[in-house]
Amino acid sequence: MTRRILSLFAVAAVLILAAPVAPGQAPAPPGEHAPSLVTPKAALEKLKEGNARFVEGKRLPRDLRGQVAATAAGQHPFAAIVSCMDSRAPVELVFDQGIGDVFSLRVAGNVVDPNFLGSLEYAAKVVGSRLLVVLGHTQCGAVKGAIDDVKLGNLTGLLAEIAPAIAASGPKGTSKDEAYVNRVTEQNVIFAMKEIREKSPILREMIDSGTVGLVGGVYSVETGRVRFLVD
Ligand SMILES: [Zn+2]
Repeated sequence: MTRRILSLFAVAAVLILAAPVAPGQAPAPPGEHAPSLVTPKAALEKLKEGNARFVEGKRLPRDLRGQVAATAAGQHPFAAIVSCMDSRAPVELVFDQGIGDVFSLRVAGNVVDPNFLGSLEYAAKVVGSRLLVVLGHTQCGAVKGAIDDVKLGNLTGLLAEIAPAIAASGPKGTSKDEAYVNRVTEQNVIFAMKEIREKSPILREMIDSGTVGLVGGVYSVETGRVRFLVD
């Protein structure tokens, strides 16, 4: 085989790997490299099913090294998930996803700043992710720190971004009051979703037209279960 033919094969292989999945084509089975053109609803179902497998201890077997090779030429993550840095809430694990399946954006308290908005715009507009998720979690140290008005270096400014959620959660409680902390956590997710809509005209247009979905959820560090707020 000549060198020229070999290089043509290489180009064809890259094109095949990079080609988007045609509308109507069946989505890849869970755990396989995800197409970018699933619907927002189907993307949410994939996350729900993945979390159900995680909770039941039935995570799919994965050839992660094989997924590295399969995704090297391009990525088509079906969702972009904003979540907390908490070590007990690793997104790919709790949704039972593999390499190349989801964008994972993590910061203490899952607050959305302009860098996150830019990253989400890249995910949705450039790469074609079809679902944006804001995921809070129970026992969040950042939420508790914000409730306790903790001051510490650069953390002070980060925790200040949780203030609107505290203001929206009724009479001020304490970080020892679990029901109150959960209320602030949920309001913090709702506020981040609002920020995404209000501060990114690009994402708002995509959400309003139904091109991408936007959902919030809370992960339980006690049970491993994600409760979506749209349920
Ligand atoms: Zn947290």
